[in-house]
Amino acid sequence: MHYNSDIEWSNHIGEYGHTPDRTFYPATWDEITNIITLAESFENNIKVRASGSGHSWSPVCPTPNFMIMPDKLRKELPLEPDTLNQNNNLTNLVRIQSGMRIRELNQLLDNRNKALKVLGGFDGQTIAGVCQTSTHGSVINAGPLYECILSYDVAGSGGKKYRIEPKNGITDVIRFQEKYPEVILVQDDDWYNAISVGIGTLGIIYSVIIEVTDAFYLKEEHKNQTGLM
Ligand SMILES: Cc1cc2nc3c(=O)[nH]c(=O)nc-3n(C[C@H](O)[C@H](O)[C@H](O)COP(=O)(O)OP(=O)(O)OC[C@H]3O[C@@H](n4cnc5c(N)ncnc54)[C@H](O)[C@@H]3O)c2cc1C
Repeated sequence: MHYNSDIEWSNHIGEYGHTPDRTFYPATWDEITNIITLAESFENNIKVRASGSGHSWSPVCPTPNFMIMPDKLRKELPLEPDTLNQNNNLTNLVRIQSGMRIRELNQLLDNRNKALKVLGGFDGQTIAGVCQTSTHGSVINAGPLYECILSYDVAGSGGKKYRIEPKNGITDVIRFQEKYPEVILVQDDDWYNAISVGIGTLGIIYSVIIEVTDAFYLKEEHKNQTGLM
């Protein structure tokens, strides 16, 4: 598996930097599980950590060991409606790889006259990065961005693959497991809540299914010095 040994990583503001032993650029779920399996084949407790765009202000990415970069994980994936519950509104579901940045997602959705329900104040973060840190906007009736994620495809210890959703999630258990017997489908609120804001500690997220809304306009109102509109 290809990797680089001399890639210096630092966060956006250059406050936290390091050079991991190996930096990987996986493009598939299998490649991610192979990296984890390789790390676990060593005896000295090699850690695997994913980086998003490195925009966190806390040292939540650095690892001296194996780092997974998002550069080749920025694509949209087929939704595969044959694996989902029939009562889903498919027109508002999109499946993307975890390294897609919010600005690319916004463009993809805008081309379909769709949008995320809420945004933060910046668009350079990855979808995995915003969910792992509970990135949020300032909208009184909308929670953090991760609330749009209905389903996570994750690589975990032992090279196992998981699909993680809340109880009564969007995936049809029988049809999904018939098609993907090797993937462990977990529909459990505790698992879902843990993976949603896991600060990168609960496995490497490969892809997500998100729920979007129809595109909408924002109206900005300025008050004059008297406080009148
Ligand atoms: C200019 C700027 C504006 C910002 N505006 C806002 C704002 O409006 N609201 C707000 O709440 N925050 C804001 N933030 C904070 C930012 O949204 C978060 O720090 C976010 O986590 C950054 O995303 P990232 O892709 O850079 O993730 P990173 O910082 O690279 O990683 C964050 C965490 O996600 C984990 N991770 C990344 N990819 C994966 C993966 N595939 N699988 C598992 N774990 C993974 C990492 O290990 C790490 O623990 C802002 C930051 C900047 C620099």
